[in-house]
Amino acid sequence: MFITKAQAAKRLGMSDQAISSSIRNLSTTETKLQTAYHNGKEQVIVFSLIEEIAQRYQRVANAMNAKPGECGCGCLSKTEGTVYIQGHDQKLDGCLQTILRTGHEIDKDSVKSFAMIRGIDITKLQ
Ligand SMILES: [Zn+2]
Repeated sequence: MFITKAQAAKRLGMSDQAISSSIRNLSTTETKLQTAYHNGKEQVIVFSLIEEIAQRYQRVANAMNAKPGECGCGCLSKTEGTVYIQGHDQKLDGCLQTILRTGHEIDKDSVKSFAMIRGIDITKLQ
């Protein structure tokens, strides 16, 4: 099954530009998204979208459980005394944004509580 990039963007709570950028950089980003040509257009493979959603939720869950010395984004990497590996706060922001824009109300409430504890300004994400 295939869906358009715009549909995938909407499902992930991303802008059309952001998903196009992710797809252009498939080899250098951690995205699970995969595309294929279908009916003459590059489209997103639905199974890969499910994987991407799962990855985003898993990262937030990891971030909620990050131990001292682990990157606060949920990537499970070790840090050298910083909360995040450089740039990883933005990775977490993207995952939080997906949940805030598309998640179940209970998930959204959990993310808001987590953001408050972590000092993340979610108004910039919504
Ligand atoms: Zn990280």
